[in-house]
Amino acid sequence: MEKRECRWDQVVFTPDHKNQIYCCDACYDAAKAKRQKQKRDPVKNLILILMSNHERIDNAYKDGKLELDLKAVEAYDIDLSLSRRLQPPSEFAGKRMLDFGMYFLITDNNFQTFKIFKHGTEHTI
Ligand SMILES: [Zn+2]
Repeated sequence: MEKRECRWDQVVFTPDHKNQIYCCDACYDAAKAKRQKQKRDPVKNLILILMSNHERIDNAYKDGKLELDLKAVEAYDIDLSLSRRLQPPSEFAGKRMLDFGMYFLITDNNFQTFKIFKHGTEHTI
């Protein structure tokens, strides 16, 4: 069998079979672990966005900024695509409800104005 370079650590080795691309089990395992870590990353990224969304809405809420326009939402860097679209409670009929877990935003159909509400609190318009 012709010598080749290990795909993990570039050590030149003689493979036992023609599909072998790593020189040893340790390199095989290291490469596999790296692939698995890369697979997990999109989920991790998603969670980080969800967490930062929560933090930003939380900041606005604590600042008493309960009404945001689209510019403010963008300034706070809130990612509206990562929210659940829910049917709003009857008091918000005709509006849209974007759920972010602890908070939800009530917005108009054009996504121009947003009101922040916290779940589990009484809300009035
Ligand atoms: Zn190797």
